[in-house]
Amino acid sequence: MKKFCSLLILSALTLLGPGLPAWLTAGVIPAPEDILGFKAGADYHLINYQQATDYLKQLASVSNRIKLEQMGQTTLGLPMYYAIISSPENLARLQEYKDIIKKLSLGQAASPQEAWRLAAEGRAIVYIDGGLHATECAPAQHLVQLAYDLVSGEDERTKKILNEVICLLVFANPDGMNMVADWYQKNLGTPFEVSSLPYLYHYYGGHDNNRDSYVANLKETQNISRLVNQDWYPVVLYNHHQTAPFPARIWLPPSSEPTNPNVHPLIVRWQNLIGSAMGAAFDSEEKDGAISRIVFDTWYPGYVTQVVDSHNIISILTETALYRYATPRFYTVRDFPPEYQDLTMSAFYPSPWKGGWWRLRDAVDYCLTASKAVLETTAKYRQELLFNKYKMATGIINRFEHEPPYGWILPVSQSDPGNLAVLLNRLMLLGIDIYRADEDFNCDGVSYPRGTFLIPSSQPFGLFAKNMLEEQHYPDLRKYPALWQGLVDTKKFEGAPLEAYDMMGWTLPYQFNLQVKTANTPLKVKMTRIKELDFFQAKVEGSGSGAYLLDHSQNASFAAMNRILKANGKIKWAKKTFNHHGQNYPAGTIIASGLSRDFMEKLASSLKIKIQALSSSPVVEAYEIVAPRTGLYQSWVAVEDEGWTRYILDEQEFSYRVIHDAEIRAGNLAASYDAIILPDHYSIELLINGYPKGTMPPDYVGGLTTGGVNNLKEFVRRGGTLIFMNTTCDLAAQEFKAPLRNILAKAKAEEFNCVGSILQAEFDLSQPVAYGLSNPQPIIFADSCAFDLYPSFTDKNIPKVIGRYAGDNLLLSGWIYGQNLIQQKAAVVEVPVEKGRLILLGFPVQYRAQPRGTFKLLFNSIFYGTIKNSSGQKG
Ligand SMILES: [Zn+2]
Repeated sequence: MKKFCSLLILSALTLLGPGLPAWLTAGVIPAPEDILGFKAGADYHLINYQQATDYLKQLASVSNRIKLEQMGQTTLGLPMYYAIISSPENLARLQEYKDIIKKLSLGQAASPQEAWRLAAEGRAIVYIDGGLHATECAPAQHLVQLAYDLVSGEDERTKKILNEVICLLVFANPDGMNMVADWYQKNLGTPFEVSSLPYLYHYYGGHDNNRDSYVANLKETQNISRLVNQDWYPVVLYNHHQTAPFPARIWLPPSSEPTNPNVHPLIVRWQNLIGSAMGAAFDSEEKDGAISRIVFDTWYPGYVTQVVDSHNIISILTETALYRYATPRFYTVRDFPPEYQDLTMSAFYPSPWKGGWWRLRDAVDYCLTASKAVLETTAKYRQELLFNKYKMATGIINRFEHEPPYGWILPVSQSDPGNLAVLLNRLMLLGIDIYRADEDFNCDGVSYPRGTFLIPSSQPFGLFAKNMLEEQHYPDLRKYPALWQGLVDTKKFEGAPLEAYDMMGWTLPYQFNLQVKTANTPLKVKMTRIKELDFFQAKVEGSGSGAYLLDHSQNASFAAMNRILKANGKIKWAKKTFNHHGQNYPAGTIIASGLSRDFMEKLASSLKIKIQALSSSPVVEAYEIVAPRTGLYQSWVAVEDEGWTRYILDEQEFSYRVIHDAEIRAGNLAASYDAIILPDHYSIELLINGYPKGTMPPDYVGGLTTGGVNNLKEFVRRGGTLIFMNTTCDLAAQEFKAPLRNILAKAKAEEFNCVGSILQAEFDLSQPVAYGLSNPQPIIFADSCAFDLYPSFTDKNIPKVIGRYAGDNLLLSGWIYGQNLIQQKAAVVEVPVEKGRLILLGFPVQYRAQPRGTFKLLFNSIFYGTIKNSSGQKG
């Protein structure tokens, strides 16, 4: 480490030219500009992740107030570092302070008196991050300056912070920080200096890296979750962003409504208190334009902030004002929306911003004021805040010993045990204690066998489990205007419901298609807490090696099929239910052959699936499956849906190629592809036209174009399968003249509204695209489609309805307005076109890689592309 650091100093010296810099000779702490050659937040300069961590390592080599640790790797393989900053005395006793805060957070102090004593002795852990949304540049840049200010400051304020607080500084998206710095550097000084990034700033998640927190699909989310929920148990978690409601210069708590009900009231109180203290810091430093209480609510737990609220951690979200990257911009009052032009003072916007220059450094300074106010307030109330950890944990533990839900019961037997494993593993990662029943038991009149999984609500983060496992009932904000204290103007929303900022329902058992029961009476059963999962029947059952049967309802079966096809094995899908040696198998059962038993056994154990061996092939009509040549369209107007599609394709080991506009515009797609996926997109216009000329470097201009759409039509006519995801289905209706209509394409907000809920759908399980689904099946609906089919004069392109929205019991979780518009309407449709077909997946089957129950609609559609000529064969 020492050697590495001295090398760094040497390389920094080389950069600075001859003569020793003042900071080195004087033995003082180097400022960012001493090492980087420019100030953090300087115009036209962005610090990338490498520079930032090199600088922090430099600080750690000369100061005893900072340590650097690694918390894992990023998606693209970078080490993910975080800095621990506190007084040298605190840093020397880190383990002791970690033990104290863990004990308090888990409610393990022997009594309130002991908790109060521990709170006096302990130190407050505060997590501050930057750069989660990488194009929001200031927060990551500010971390570098904040580290310097804390490490070098000798004033009373800094010393008080260092004595009372242990501060964790986290670069939340290192890959994205590098991508954005590279892109900006490349275009700096050209007409494209402020052009948008043409790809996602997280390899899979893009902006949705802040919608991943409760499922933790992404490595970065997993690293942060481990850091927060298993290692440090911070008092406050501060997640910086940079999209303030214009013209405000920073948005701070208190939040808008609705408030998530699975949060301890003390969390909400302290968010309001710390937010107000931050506001006061801005006005005391004469930094105008801090606003609260509008736009950002705390309903949805996918955010980095909201997920920790139900872990009894006070989350602080801020949104500082942003222009673009490190380029400055001048604003006058005339640029403001009309309602802000008269600079009216109000309770949650008491110092309106009056316009002027806005530079990256201004945003960095606002972030610094905000971070320091959080640290100072935490330092001031350290003992109370630590004691609150104990209060909240024990409060929740006690509450659910006496009131329902007492817990959740998760039977081992599920249609896709892999989904159960993902759910339990992710909940454990997020700090939830999972148990197994040591004996058979009965709850609410139902009996369950020994070995059943149990999640009691009575545990420190029980509210988080509840938040994930129960149904959401989104409040209709129009009904209680007084409760929202003027936030909701019923007249403004007359007839039209008020949308949530993000999803309204997310219940994980529905998304994962798992049978999970709520315990409405106390769980009276001996149970043992588990550390890892070992319930899989990962083996080949039965003797023989003539054929192997795999269950179509398991996602891992698709990885198995992909491996089998790569190894030149054979795959068939049974067309009908069949019986083999007294055992019934459903339509869609996967029949594999042509590979050794040894291969199949390795497959079973590595993918944790059960495979049934047969001595001979079952007699049943079957489709033959050939490895599909798959293309995934990637627009230069980057969309998260494309990234998440790659995520689930990679997870199940699909081979595919990413296709850009140029390849589609060039045509002859049938020569290279059997199936092409068009991910959900912002709009059909953007999909076709892309970025206009002059707004982006020439390589990234223009979309599919009409010519490209014609090439896609030709691809379909020649036998290709074109898969439309969610709103891109409108392209099928408009451009491909599919004989159907999306009823919701022109529906007004006062007629229909459902931006993110879980609904119920019914599927025709005899059709290959629906193989492996349940009936009914929970699905996610998010600005989705519902189709009316037109009668056809020929029998050539009559659409086949594969799935419909339910009539009764349509809404499972969240909220829907105007449901009668979509009840019993088609949701998934196949439209034959000459030799090929369009498949319209009218709802997001892979939304943010979360609804594991419906991924197979996409997987089946991909495979379906190569079974077109197979029929009536004996298996
Ligand atoms: Zn953001």
